[in-house]
Amino acid sequence: MLEKVVLKKKRIDDYAPVIGQEKVAYLKEVAKPIQGLRVLHVNATAHGGGVAELLNSTIPLLNSLGLQAEWGLLCKEEPFFEVTKNFHNALQGKYYNLTPLAEKIYLKRNRLCAEMLESGYDLIMIHDPQPASLRRFHGRGNAKWIWRCHIDTSRPNMDIWNFIKPFIEEYDATVFTMKEFVPWNIKAGCLYTIAPAIDPFTSKNIDLDIAVCKTIVAEFGIDLSRPLLLQVSRFDLWKDPLGVLEVYRRVKEKVAGIQLAYIGSMADDDPEGWEIYHKVKEQAKDDPDIFLYTNLSGVHSFEVNCFQRVADVVIQKSIREGFGLVVSEALWKGAAVVAGNVGGIPLQINDGVNGLLAQNNEEFVEKVLYLLTNKKERHEMGKRGHDDVREHFLVTRLVREEIEMYRELIQKPVSNGKAMRLL
Ligand code: UDP
Repeated sequence: MLEKVVLKKKRIDDYAPVIGQEKVAYLKEVAKPIQGLRVLHVNATAHGGGVAELLNSTIPLLNSLGLQAEWGLLCKEEPFFEVTKNFHNALQGKYYNLTPLAEKIYLKRNRLCAEMLESGYDLIMIHDPQPASLRRFHGRGNAKWIWRCHIDTSRPNMDIWNFIKPFIEEYDATVFTMKEFVPWNIKAGCLYTIAPAIDPFTSKNIDLDIAVCKTIVAEFGIDLSRPLLLQVSRFDLWKDPLGVLEVYRRVKEKVAGIQLAYIGSMADDDPEGWEIYHKVKEQAKDDPDIFLYTNLSGVHSFEVNCFQRVADVVIQKSIREGFGLVVSEALWKGAAVVAGNVGGIPLQINDGVNGLLAQNNEEFVEKVLYLLTNKKERHEMGKRGHDDVREHFLVTRLVREEIEMYRELIQKPVSNGKAMRLL
């Protein structure tokens, strides 16, 4: 049996005060015809990164709506995660030399996990490249299979894409965050675009008293009388942590008291994290106003919530980004955000309205300085950001779109995996 994540309990009715009773009633209505549907989601890790964050909320909500949803994990193994992190990077466009050994490590682990995957599900949703070939090794069984891609695959390294593509094309449906991410030559059963979302009732996003947040942030060494710049992201090259240091240093030339907090938890399936952390630490070592935290230094979801509420400006300096849940998380808290104009970020930030988009370091510096000196603007953008997230990026919308997709798929005849392109 695949290892199963112990799920939290969530009640859909608890969301009514935030999204309104009508939307909750609509969700119940949409879910009614598929109550009892047995759904399995599979990904690589229960901790760290956006996918785990999403599944922690969507699966309990599916259960609250009467489906029987479970969350299974790929069995862990060190060389496998090294290989799949390389696949992940290459699918986002980084150079990669795909070797027969890497293929073998990848396929062996998928084959083993496929043997551990029980039957009895109506629908199996596989997240990201790590478990993508489970469908091949397990066979269809009686389930419909969905592959959910959370990364920016608009310009993949073609070696790795051509290796993964035949596995993906066996699925009944594939889901991308944006249509721009759909690789041009994919032939999949059905293509959907669904954007991720955040949960307002997790310790990461729950409303908190600002006095409490300040106390917590001060305990981590931040001087509350001076401005604070924040980035919350795994230590990952696509999140450009060294670029964050560069922007901070240039802002410091104009605002001497500025402090930088970089919060980067370590995900189980991301072996690169520590290596990059040490590089950043080395470059930051002479500056007492740079604070690096990981989950191992006691900064977990609740503390991230506090930092996002206290920071003067939140930045997200990504150079590739599948979606960037952190952006919606910060907007939800009314934070002033400057973020890279890449991938899923512009879905969330309407430049100049609810936050600012930046193309390069110069623009980041200029826009951070602008927000630091315009408190009223910061406040107004933050307010609009909160409203926009309520409208578009709460988990209840994501759950509705997933349920609508499940309903469509279970009615469709089984696909031979080479059907037409629907987008
Ligand atoms: N996160 C966290 N602690 C950290 C760094 C990240 O809790 O130190 C969370 C962050 O709040 C968000 C998720 O991890 O919920 C990252 O998702 P995102 O989509 O931004 O990026 P990904 O890591 O999936 O590329």
